[in-house]
Amino acid sequence: MSASRLPLSYYAATASDASQRAPLKGALDCDVCVVGGGFTGVSTALHLIERGFDVVLLEAEQLGFGASGRNGGQIVNSYSRDMDVIEARYGAETARALGSMAFEGNRIIRERITRYAIDCDLKEGNLFAACTERQWQGLKAHQALWARYGHAELELLGRDAYRREVGSKRYTGVLIDHSGGHLHPLNLLLGQVLAFEAQGGRVFEGSPVISVTPGEPACVRTERGEVRASKVVLAGNAYMSGLLPDMERRSMPASTQIITTEPLTDAQARALLPTDRAVEDCNYLLDYYRLTADQRLLYGGGVSYGGQDPNSIEGAIRPKLLTTFPELSDVRIDYAWSGNFLLTLNRLPQFGRVETSVYYAQGYSGHGVTCSHLAGCLMAEALAGDGSRFDAFAGIAHRRLPGGRTFSVPLSALGAWYYQLRDRLGW
Ligand SMILES: Cc1cc2nc3c(=O)[nH]c(=O)nc-3n(C[C@H](O)[C@H](O)[C@H](O)COP(=O)(O)OP(=O)(O)OC[C@H]3O[C@@H](n4cnc5c(N)ncnc54)[C@H](O)[C@@H]3O)c2cc1C
Repeated sequence: MSASRLPLSYYAATASDASQRAPLKGALDCDVCVVGGGFTGVSTALHLIERGFDVVLLEAEQLGFGASGRNGGQIVNSYSRDMDVIEARYGAETARALGSMAFEGNRIIRERITRYAIDCDLKEGNLFAACTERQWQGLKAHQALWARYGHAELELLGRDAYRREVGSKRYTGVLIDHSGGHLHPLNLLLGQVLAFEAQGGRVFEGSPVISVTPGEPACVRTERGEVRASKVVLAGNAYMSGLLPDMERRSMPASTQIITTEPLTDAQARALLPTDRAVEDCNYLLDYYRLTADQRLLYGGGVSYGGQDPNSIEGAIRPKLLTTFPELSDVRIDYAWSGNFLLTLNRLPQFGRVETSVYYAQGYSGHGVTCSHLAGCLMAEALAGDGSRFDAFAGIAHRRLPGGRTFSVPLSALGAWYYQLRDRLGW
């Protein structure tokens, strides 16, 4: 077996399946060729094969190489842009359509775990933590807003009560989403891949796609092979370049970093997170953390626009961890890694078609665990002939980045600096 292409992370070290698939060689025919072996691609491939399509999946590196095998593992409902902004910008009809799907990705993940008996350390509940009074007022508004879209499983805990959830003095209050959760994302992905293969799906790793020619059939080329398919799905997200040039001008890769401690004692773990839920704070550049199955604190934060890593990941993230939990000053860090997600200007995902044979979904802007699973379901519906729900997303216009990706990087960093200052000063 060749060496793993996954970055060294807690997830890669505890992956449920270390097997690798051969690269594509020669020519193949199929109904649908999916490009990209992350949640979007694998979820789409699995939904399609369940509907009877003959599907080939091509991954440039190794399944889970992208954000899906590296993320915080937090099952966060809804989108990176909240429903009130969607209502105001895109109107009541779009808001109703997106609102009706805002909690579906979470349900799909749970259905996949149950149906295919996927062991991925699922734990219940996530929460949003306010660092300032302004953020606390925002959480109250958030609860009321989601209630309008039928989501009632939210609970607010103020300054006097939140410490039963999070053992940090940093916060003003928290909003618990009892229907959220957290899990081992790479194992969720690999479980779905096995389910796909068990139903006849074909997977090739080490097979970067170098060109896609729309048509009947569409033609997907790798260095040593070719797939002719009635339809193509592009699911390469922040790691893809050159295949969707128009959308590249309307999105930007950004990196965020994660560190993982040594396993903590029961008493330490209970003191930090007594109810074992996942946490993200409400800052513009947010911190997110949770306990793993073996009681390590997995702590993420920071954003680097353009996808460049800081010189030392531990050096960048450890101070954030210690601001939240100063009592961990002596803790050992066992893993540190980074990953890229794809940002859009309006923070809503990009769904669409190129001509009639090439479909894409990408750009979940930081919250993609649930939305990528929704995307897979909607993509399969659309390819089976009912594109109405896919089109609710595809109809949303995406503006170009001012100055393209190159000039947007410093502009975004400047914008982030401003919002960070606002968070610090509590404006
Ligand atoms: C560090 C980090 C933490 C995060 N934490 C959370 C979180 O806690 N909760 C949450 O909701 N979201 C989180 N996200 C976002 C979430 O992980 C992503 O939105 C989601 O995983 C995107 O899935 P994807 O399948 O679209 O893309 P990816 O998982 O990035 O997969 C794309 C795949 O396509 C492949 N590919 C690219 N180009 C080609 C090509 N030409 N040919 C073949 N294959 C190609 C890549 O190798 C890659 O494997 C986080 C992201 C990061 C980076």
